[in-house]
Amino acid sequence: MNRRNFLKTTALGAAIAASPISFSAFGSPTKSTGRSGRLNLSFAPYELKLRHAFNLAKYQRTTTPDVQVQIEYDGIIGYGEASMPPYLGESVDSVTSFLSKLDLSQFSDPFRIEDIMAYLESVAPNNRAAKASVDIALHDLLGKIMGQPWYKIWGLNPQKCPNTSFTISYDADPAEMKAKIDETAPFKVIKIKMGLDHDKELVNAIRSRTDTAICVDVNQGWSDKEQALEMCHWLAERNCLFVEQPMPKEMIDETAWLRERSPLPIIADEFLQRLPDVKRAAAAYDGINIKLMKSTGMHEAYQMAVLARSLGMKIMLGCMTETSCAVTAAAQLAPMVDWADLDGNLLIANDRFDGIKIVEGKVTIPDRPGIGVELL
Ligand code: MG
Repeated sequence: MNRRNFLKTTALGAAIAASPISFSAFGSPTKSTGRSGRLNLSFAPYELKLRHAFNLAKYQRTTTPDVQVQIEYDGIIGYGEASMPPYLGESVDSVTSFLSKLDLSQFSDPFRIEDIMAYLESVAPNNRAAKASVDIALHDLLGKIMGQPWYKIWGLNPQKCPNTSFTISYDADPAEMKAKIDETAPFKVIKIKMGLDHDKELVNAIRSRTDTAICVDVNQGWSDKEQALEMCHWLAERNCLFVEQPMPKEMIDETAWLRERSPLPIIADEFLQRLPDVKRAAAAYDGINIKLMKSTGMHEAYQMAVLARSLGMKIMLGCMTETSCAVTAAAQLAPMVDWADLDGNLLIANDRFDGIKIVEGKVTIPDRPGIGVELL
C-alpha cells in the first residue's frame, strides 16, 4: 500500500487533529533526511481486517483495532504496533491517549532501553499494548542503528526456530470444514480452540483427514477439573502436543491438580501477562505463552523467556492478530522457545509489512536489521 492510500484508510487526518505529536514522517521510507538527535514518536489507528471471522469461547469478531507507531531518531525510523483484541481491555482511544502523554524527546540516547521503559511505566499502569508498540519501535530503531537483527544481538541461532501452528475453528458444514483442514497443509502443527460446542467433532474431523500434530487452546473454557483431565487423556491419544489455558485463570489449585495428572503439558496464557507472573505460573503450569502485547514488548519478553527457562518451564511464543510488524518482532525470540504460534499476520487481509516467513511450517526470521520488516 502506498503512503496516500494508507493515510486514507487509517483516518490519519483525524488522528493528527487529536494529537500534539507530529505525523510528518508517518508512512515514509525507513530513512529520512532529518537529524534530530532526539526520539520522535508518531502513531495512527489502523483497523485490521480478518480474513475469516474469529470464534473464541466467549465471542466472535471480524476486525481487530490496532495502532501503528513510528519512532524516528537521526533520520532512522523504527516501526512498532499495538494490537488490541477486546479481551485485553485496551482500545484505540486508550492507546492513543497513552501515547499522546509521552515525551520521548527527553531521551537523547535511544540505547537507554531500561530508562525509557521505566519512564513508560511511570506514565500510567497497564496499557501493555501501548507500551509494547513503543518498545517494538525502539528495538527496530536500535537494531537498524547497529545494523543487526535482534536474534543476532541476543546471540540466538535462527536454525533453532520451531514450527509454528496455524489456527482453524469448527464449521458445521463438512465441505467448509474440509477446506479449512486442507488449508493447514503447509503447517506442521494445527492449533484449535476448544471449550466451545463440537470440541470432539472438530478433532475427529481433523483426524479423518490428517495426522498433523495438534495443539489445543481452551481459552479458560473448561471449569470441571475431572472433565478437563478426561479431555487431556483423550487428546493425548490423538497426537496433541499441549493444552493451553484449560481452566479459568482464577482456578489455580484446580489447574495445579490437572497439571499433576495430565499426560499433556499445561500452558498458561490468560493467567499471565508480565515478568512477575512467570514465577506464579510455575506453581500451576508446565509452561507459559509469551506475547509481546501482554509483556509490554521485546525487552520484557526476553527476560520472561530467560526466567521461564531457568525455572525449567516450557515456552510458547504467541501473538494477537497483528501485522507482520509485531509478529516479526516476536519471531526474533523464536529460537528460545519450544512452540511458536505466530500466525497473526496470516489471519489479516491488510498487512502493511513484509517480514516473517513460514517455510515448510517453520518460523523463518528475515535477515534484516532491527525487527526485520519493510513497508509493503
Ligand atoms: Mg491462548
